[in-house]
Amino acid sequence: MPKIIQLSPHIANLIAAGEVVERPASVVKELLENAVDAGASKVTVEIRNGGMTFLRVTDNGCGMSAEDAKTAFLRHATSKLRTADDLAAISTMGFRGEALAAIASVSRIDLLTKTAGAITGVSLALEAGNVTDESDAGCPDGTTIIIRDLFYNTPARMKFMKSDSVEGGKVAAAVQMQALAHPEVAFTFIRDGKPTLQTPGDGNLKSAVYCVYGRESARFAEVSSRWEGYSLKGFVSRPTDSRPSRSLQTFFVNNRPVKSKLLVSALEEAYRNQIMVGKFPACVLHLTLPANAVDVNVHPAKTEVKFLSEKNAFDCVHYGVLGALNSTPDRPDVKLKPPVPVIREEPKPRLAPRQEPAREIPKKKDDYFRTMTTEEFKTFSAVLAEAPKPDPEAARRTLSCVNSERPAPQSVRNIPLYPVPEVPPVPKIPVPAPPIPEPEPVQQELTMPKEIPWRMVGELYRSYILVEQGDNAFLIDKHAAHERILFERLRANPRDIVSQDLLIPATVRLRPDAAAMLLSKTSLLDELGFGIEEFGENTILVRRAPMDIGEGEIPDALMEMADDLLSGRTADTETLRDELLHTMACKAAIKAGWKNDDRELLAVVKEVMSREELKYCPHGRPICITLSKKTLEKQFKRT
Ligand code: ADP
Ligand code: MG
Repeated sequence: MPKIIQLSPHIANLIAAGEVVERPASVVKELLENAVDAGASKVTVEIRNGGMTFLRVTDNGCGMSAEDAKTAFLRHATSKLRTADDLAAISTMGFRGEALAAIASVSRIDLLTKTAGAITGVSLALEAGNVTDESDAGCPDGTTIIIRDLFYNTPARMKFMKSDSVEGGKVAAAVQMQALAHPEVAFTFIRDGKPTLQTPGDGNLKSAVYCVYGRESARFAEVSSRWEGYSLKGFVSRPTDSRPSRSLQTFFVNNRPVKSKLLVSALEEAYRNQIMVGKFPACVLHLTLPANAVDVNVHPAKTEVKFLSEKNAFDCVHYGVLGALNSTPDRPDVKLKPPVPVIREEPKPRLAPRQEPAREIPKKKDDYFRTMTTEEFKTFSAVLAEAPKPDPEAARRTLSCVNSERPAPQSVRNIPLYPVPEVPPVPKIPVPAPPIPEPEPVQQELTMPKEIPWRMVGELYRSYILVEQGDNAFLIDKHAAHERILFERLRANPRDIVSQDLLIPATVRLRPDAAAMLLSKTSLLDELGFGIEEFGENTILVRRAPMDIGEGEIPDALMEMADDLLSGRTADTETLRDELLHTMACKAAIKAGWKNDDRELLAVVKEVMSREELKYCPHGRPICITLSKKTLEKQFKRT
């Protein structure tokens, strides 16, 4: 065994730097935490070349005395901890006393600092952790620290740096993170001479979120809840505004930015069945809990935390977000294109151009409806004579195909889905006639208690139901809405699935993996109303199927269910059941293009209008959008 020696402070610092100072962004993070801990209300960060050659942080915090300023660069030098007990309840951002020592060991530093009480400040220069110059300096209260030539003495680390623009981007993200963590502090970020972020520091999280996430955040739902002594505050995106990645999910625990799988899953759980597969919510969430209920000393960069009660942390986030989403109306406004100015053109001749006008017709420029000339009429008649004759049979075939090829499922075909109020019988007026009461206004509208009455206007494109209510009109996607309603109902009561034996059992041939998967889950499928058996050759025999699923839909439904089962997205049984119920609801719901009678449509509308929480189909598409009177008035230039 070689002889053991104690590492020199310089080497120890370099090792610590390896953990804490990974890149310019991690330097910025540490320096900003120090500024916040120093009680600053204004902080400016400036970088050049992605922070590799120049990086400055100026704050108006408490500053340091000349002596403290020198001590600050020693390893394990901190003003934030005194005893081991302090470690159990940390209220500052820093506490390890390593950052300045580590940063100093791999860069050249200029420090300028002054405490409020002092007459002059102090200026220090350091190189690779050693003080090379010290002098009094006239400067404002607070601290400015400039880091130059990061990693100049550790070429190995330098090699891992990406381009200036990538490193600069990471610095920007670190500043944004602190800005969101501390809305009470005004942050300014200057990148290569250009200010790129400025937060007001008004203590209002919403303004900080707006500065960082931009206009998109105006639609975020506000979260504010308490749970078992934990509090949750912040903003979350609405399900329809979800994003392709998790990059805009920001969590803070006691103002400290953290990465936590637990919190991510608590958040996403709240969006379950409301968001499209592969889409993710955005959030800025502050979880605040007693300092002793969380351990922040798990990782050198302090980005990981350990909760005393994972369940409380999870529930606080999950229920807080769920509550916020449920109480945020989300029936987005119809986006109308700006009106295009109408350009009137000379109407183009539709028929063969005339050689000679047979008779002069007084031509009015905009007269689209003028009578045909004799010549035009002749050409037109000739064209007509040659055109294939209309086939009344074909027309009937096309129509009947649209109307009845895909019969509506049992649930909406004859029986209304939900009880539709019966029109009360007209009372017979007895003789002699009593004084005629004031006639009740004809109630075409269904009135919900204390709600603005609404009226179903009709249907567009056999897909969207138009409903008017006060100064708003709503367009309801009938398939998405019905799908959601069925899904909720099946989920609340799986026994509602009415299964029936098929007159002639159906055979469905599937991919080998799909067939095998379904056959391994026969009891689950049985619960969902499908009675299936093996039939050999990757074929399954379906003896029983849910009544709401048309026979023609059975193969598709089984195929999709097999895919749900195979996708591996569905780890726990509850999620799995949900996925299968999505498929069932989708198959059983009325479809766009189907002809539905008013009672069927009304049944759907009634649910949508009375249940604000019905906002998205189980795949995350909106089911209802708003077309306000105001929007229309604007478009028609009435306002
Ligand atoms: P820690 O933040 O974990 O205490 P640091 O190495 O980051 O360790 O800082 C060491 C000490 O230097 C801090 O405890 C604090 O007293 C002092 N310090 C660092 N930056 C500032 C600042 N911007 N203003 C005032 N004091 C500072
Ligand atoms: Mg620190």
